[in-house]
Amino acid sequence: MGSKVYRAVVASPADPDTLSRIAFEAIWAGAPLSLRGARARTGWARRRLQAAVDQLLGAGRLELDESSIVGAHGVTLRSTAHRIRHDGVDTHTWCAFDAVGIPVALAIDAVVATNCPTCGSGLEIAIRAGVPDDRPFVTWMPFGPCENVIRDFYADANLFCSKEHVDDWRAAAGTPDGAALTLPEIAAQGRRVWSDVAGAAEPTGGVA
Ligand SMILES: [Zn+2]
Repeated sequence: MGSKVYRAVVASPADPDTLSRIAFEAIWAGAPLSLRGARARTGWARRRLQAAVDQLLGAGRLELDESSIVGAHGVTLRSTAHRIRHDGVDTHTWCAFDAVGIPVALAIDAVVATNCPTCGSGLEIAIRAGVPDDRPFVTWMPFGPCENVIRDFYADANLFCSKEHVDDWRAAAGTPDGAALTLPEIAAQGRRVWSDVAGAAEPTGGVA
């Protein structure tokens, strides 16, 4: 029937990832992303933005405070037990995996701070140009079905002072499925997971 022009009000499967990425960039820069600001950034109709917000909320991949996004793609404006100190600023993250993976993927200098859930020790890792110091710490990465990322994954994705303390925690938690990964292993995963925002630390916004 020839060509017809449709108004782009339908959500695209890529929309949640796009929204997650621009919200990350705002929160990393220290500010919430208002829904109005998200519409201005994307040019999406209200319904299309709402569909992407709903999808991310349903998957536990977004924190919404009134009409602003305050947590996305691992970073949050809430205070948590995990943080990245960079350029004199602390950015909090949903879990220890984010705290290590993000500065690695952004290839920045940073200090990551968190606590071992077993003994409560404060753990710090210096990262230089995206490469973490050689420390014996171990990160627990949960496996299995993950219906809600914030609830199911992030609660357990912690950094431990030693493999022994991972084992102690796991025994007490009813031996959940997962893997204990070393810092280089976590760094490799982080580079992949946050490759979409790897240019966020560059003042010019990076290259396409
Ligand atoms: Zn410990």
